[in-house]
Amino acid sequence: RANIGKITTMADDFDRLLGGGIETQTITEMYGEYGSGKTQIAHQLAVAVQLPKEKGGLNSNAIYIDTENSFRPERIKQMARSLELDEDEVLDKIYVARAYNSNHQMLLSEKARELAKKIKEEGEKIKLLIIDSLTSHFRAEYVGRGSLAERQQKLNKHLHEVIKFTDLFNAAALVTNQVQSNPDAFFGDPTRPVGGNILGHMATYRLYLRKSKGDKRIARLVDSPCMPEGESVFTIGEEGIRD
Ligand code: ATP
Ligand code: MG
Repeated sequence: RANIGKITTMADDFDRLLGGGIETQTITEMYGEYGSGKTQIAHQLAVAVQLPKEKGGLNSNAIYIDTENSFRPERIKQMARSLELDEDEVLDKIYVARAYNSNHQMLLSEKARELAKKIKEEGEKIKLLIIDSLTSHFRAEYVGRGSLAERQQKLNKHLHEVIKFTDLFNAAALVTNQVQSNPDAFFGDPTRPVGGNILGHMATYRLYLRKSKGDKRIARLVDSPCMPEGESVFTIGEEGIRD
């Protein structure tokens, strides 16, 4: 794997945990409870990827597939302002699509390739594909044990599409995931992410996020093939994600 790029989280210690930031040609999965910071980090990365390389970005645009209607243009502008960037320009470089159901979400991930090609022809780049949340529609639509196999098969196909995207464009993928709300569903482990093994095998970096005191959050790197397991504390403030 040549020419791997990294995108800063804007928090030094979080970047250290990841070996410099989130990586291109890989999927990074973030899972955690409500309010743990998944969507905030997604917004932050969509801004950070636009920064020049010396500031931790890839001088590129982002695609943001929003399944929970949680994308907030105002929040992007706020983060852009704190970096003294032009807020409208930053917002224009994030291609946001709302996914209405899992099939639509899958279609959007295929369309992302066409969009990235078109943008490339125009002389710009897409180096980040965000899916927030990867699993919410799948989880809502495929309910019960009887539909589990079909759900996993669809998720598998979807993730292959995402990997294809990251390979074709040397881009990073950042996907979010919830934790199982029924602790008994997986033998009492309440921190188990949705999607089970399929996601586990395809996401190179898995981050488990949890709340700490006030604006503090803790990110734990779980089963990474190339980085030691560990934790990092970061904060969510008006300016965005920071140490
Ligand atoms: P869910 O599972 O519900 O999608 P999540 O992990 O995506 O949750 P986020 O939406 O990323 O959670 O985090 C929400 C938290 O981020 C809020 O509770 C708040 O503490 C913090 N936050 C959001 N916006 C701001 C802001 N403008 N300034 C400071 N903190 C903020
Ligand atoms: Mg969210």
